Amino acid sequence: MSPRVAVLGAGVAGLVAAYELVGLGYDVDVYEASPRIGGRIHTHRFGSGRSSPYVELGAMRIPTKHRHTMRYIDELNLADRVRPFRSFLSDANNYLSAESGPVRLSEAMPALLQALRERLPGSVYREASLQFAAFLTLTVEAVAPVRMRGQLVGNVMLTGMLVDRLDGMDLRPYLPEQGRPARLGEFFIDNPGFRSFLPLGLDGFIDDILTETSSDLVRLDGGMDALPRRLADALAGAVHVNHKVVELRVRERDVVVELVHADRTIVRRYAYALCAIPFSALRHLRLYDFDPDKLDIIRETEYCSATKVAFYCREPFWLDEGISGGASYTGGGIRQTYYPDRGSALLASYTIGEEADQLGRMSLADRHEYVRQQLAKVHPRILEPGMIRSAVSLAWGQDEWTRGGCAVRWGKDVGQIVEEQELASTPQNHLFFAGEHCSKNPAWIEGAIESALDAVDRIDADVTGSYPVRRSA
Ligand SMILES: Cc1cc2nc3c(=O)[nH]c(=O)nc-3n(C[C@H](O)[C@H](O)[C@H](O)COP(=O)(O)OP(=O)(O)OC[C@H]3O[C@@H](n4cnc5c(N)ncnc54)[C@H](O)[C@@H]3O)c2cc1C
Repeated sequence: MSPRVAVLGAGVAGLVAAYELVGLGYDVDVYEASPRIGGRIHTHRFGSGRSSPYVELGAMRIPTKHRHTMRYIDELNLADRVRPFRSFLSDANNYLSAESGPVRLSEAMPALLQALRERLPGSVYREASLQFAAFLTLTVEAVAPVRMRGQLVGNVMLTGMLVDRLDGMDLRPYLPEQGRPARLGEFFIDNPGFRSFLPLGLDGFIDDILTETSSDLVRLDGGMDALPRRLADALAGAVHVNHKVVELRVRERDVVVELVHADRTIVRRYAYALCAIPFSALRHLRLYDFDPDKLDIIRETEYCSATKVAFYCREPFWLDEGISGGASYTGGGIRQTYYPDRGSALLASYTIGEEADQLGRMSLADRHEYVRQQLAKVHPRILEPGMIRSAVSLAWGQDEWTRGGCAVRWGKDVGQIVEEQELASTPQNHLFFAGEHCSKNPAWIEGAIESALDAVDRIDADVTGSYPVRRSA
């Protein structure tokens, strides 16, 4: 008989793992500390009905190349909810925050090109090269955390080399056009050597930037939380919310899990357990008899904060400004603003890194007021009395159950990245690990799923003694 497996954490990694284990004939108990399943997939509804306006406070888009994620969408009968996700600067009327004030994307190019020419005096470059370089630096500026931003824009020599190189290339397929941003992702795929021009750190982060700004992104209409909900529904009562793991003890043949539920301490012994709690939260639990290098990776894995602030508005005033979707680079301390395809729930600010922490440390009232005032520089109508019906925000760096946005391995070479990922997913006797932090694709749903499939393979191989099926391959 298959042993019962404890799955700790009901984010997408824990839920996919539990779903697959049940499919293989295992009984599972899923323990989730918070009252909500889904973890960093978090759809907030302004109202109690399923059709209420909503915003995504966690994951909001899926790159279609993320095949595991897309497969679960199919398998869970969610394919009819898939809609295109219009990304950053995908609408010619989206704004760019400039020193002189907000400028429409369609009008910003001449100013960006001029700025680039002034930084590269004495050289004559093709318009196309300058245009492409301007879009690339703009995208990095808008998406990257503070510490990476100056690396490209501030470095005249590097910018010069970059434009020099672009001058010898056919850029026609990649240039921005009316209603479509530059195809940066396709460019880097077709020209893999080009990333060697980027400074260390940015060369690793550029993949995330390219994926985030690609045109091959989708979302789930009605809310991304349909994915964890469908998984939990399939687990029929095996998911226990408000069960907080407080202690894990690894023994030779089993794992002892101590939980707190409704102020009561519960101690359970499992032949197998799978921990899908982010390391940023796990490092605050009592962990006994773990290997020293495992404890080190749990303590030292770096997380980058992320904060989202959303306003449910009285009316979609951005439509009057000709904006029907996409996102503006609103700059300042609020960075990016995403417009819904329909309805009036606005993702007013999406920040990562230092700016996310700055917002995260503010009281809710101060945070919302700060975002309102900053947003008014681009959209003055947000200050109209009664324009904001309701505000909501989530600072993942300060969230009790996550204590970080996502795991990052920026500035590390390939060898270090592989070593860290392997260490993160290495089991401790019968305690296995999953979560975006254990994967090759951290900071994405895809990575969380990939790691869950890998952990299920490892558990099943350990139980049956047979070679793993490689569900994750
Ligand atoms: C702001 C933001 C935007 C993002 N945008 C995207 C996007 O657009 N597309 C994309 O693919 N990915 C995106 N991501 C990343 C994606 O959301 C994550 O990679 C993925 O959801 C992580 O899943 P997980 O299961 O590894 O962790 P989590 O979702 O964090 O799940 C861990 C679970 O463990 C629980 N837990 C914590 N402590 C305990 C405890 N002591 N006992 C029991 N349970 C506990 C938590 O409550 C949580 O439910 C985004 C992330 C953030 C923060």
